[in-house]
Amino acid sequence: MIAKRRQTNEVVVGHVAIGGNNDISIQSMTNIPTKNVEGNVRQICELFECGCEIVRLAVTDLEGVKFFAEIRKILRAKDIPIPMVADVHFSPAIALNCLEVADKVRINAGNFSDKLMGPQSFSDDEFLVGKNKLQKSLGKFFRRAKDLKKSVRIGINHGSLAPRMVYKFGHTDVAMWESAKECLEMAWEVKFENIILSFKASDAKKMIAANRLACFKLDEMGKHYPIHLGVTESGSGDYARIKSAIGIGSLLVDGIGDTLRVSLTEDPGREIEVAKNILQGCGARRYGMEFIACPSCGRTSYDIQSVLGELKMQLGKLTGAKNLKIAVMGCMVNGPGEAEDADFAIIGSPNGTLSIYQNRNCIVKNVSWEETCKILTKVCQLKLDGA
Ligand code: SF4
Repeated sequence: MIAKRRQTNEVVVGHVAIGGNNDISIQSMTNIPTKNVEGNVRQICELFECGCEIVRLAVTDLEGVKFFAEIRKILRAKDIPIPMVADVHFSPAIALNCLEVADKVRINAGNFSDKLMGPQSFSDDEFLVGKNKLQKSLGKFFRRAKDLKKSVRIGINHGSLAPRMVYKFGHTDVAMWESAKECLEMAWEVKFENIILSFKASDAKKMIAANRLACFKLDEMGKHYPIHLGVTESGSGDYARIKSAIGIGSLLVDGIGDTLRVSLTEDPGREIEVAKNILQGCGARRYGMEFIACPSCGRTSYDIQSVLGELKMQLGKLTGAKNLKIAVMGCMVNGPGEAEDADFAIIGSPNGTLSIYQNRNCIVKNVSWEETCKILTKVCQLKLDGA
């Protein structure tokens, strides 16, 4: 059974709504210091151009808040409405100030007020001291966010859990959930609900487990906060893409996830194309034509790679092409079955000719590749025109 998308509240971030029935949004983050105002503006414009819907910037000191505001002002003057998120670690004061200038503030539950370095074992009293300290600063932060109607992402990272949480619950998904729950209880005390949660790890399996556990617990409590997905520090190249696809994709298939970021050690713009492919691959959003193509084998009697490339180019020119789903199959083994799931399928015959199928019906039999391309373009256009 295909999982339905988990029911979540809608949380507004600038002009983008996360959760509810809204599209799963794509985020990215600039990778230069915020004081480089010009560079950040340039990166954000590029990200916006390639489809990034929410952008995050690191704010590492109080001066950074001013740079953040300046970048925002320049972007708005350029008519770039992209929601801007301030990413804050280690400082409740910076987080509080960021609420004034950002659409959303991302905090890290593990280091908001707890120290990552220092004692690694805690008596019950010492645990409570850490919790009370967090409650004081977080309570103030949530109250201000509520007054300003801003949203907050409570980020739980496997690699930066508060030591007192690790001591009590181990380096586990349970510790990640308990860390989130502790923050949520503090938000509930001041009736702050504009919350998005994330449970990230560089290990895809741990990230998947933490999100599944958290969503199970949240649903049990009747709480429906949107979830931000991501595999942290996934690296670069194919491996990073595959790891992100496993982590993010598995959860999307479970129906979990309302917004996502693919973290790559590459130009930020590269994250967007990967995010789009993950979303489309999971059937969560549609960005382009969908092709089903067999890998070919000894039964293939035509140059399937060239045909696939040519079809992508030819059909891609049609208006509304992104709505098409085309199957390109080497032979009859899986051809008719896959054709059923596509708008059209082309299937090779042993004599090197091709046939076009719609549903399970052959509509054109044994023609040359040139003829196939011509006819397929025509029938696809008719389909897109609603004829
Ligand atoms: S569909 Fe036919 S040609 Fe393609 S891989 Fe399967 S058996 Fe081989």
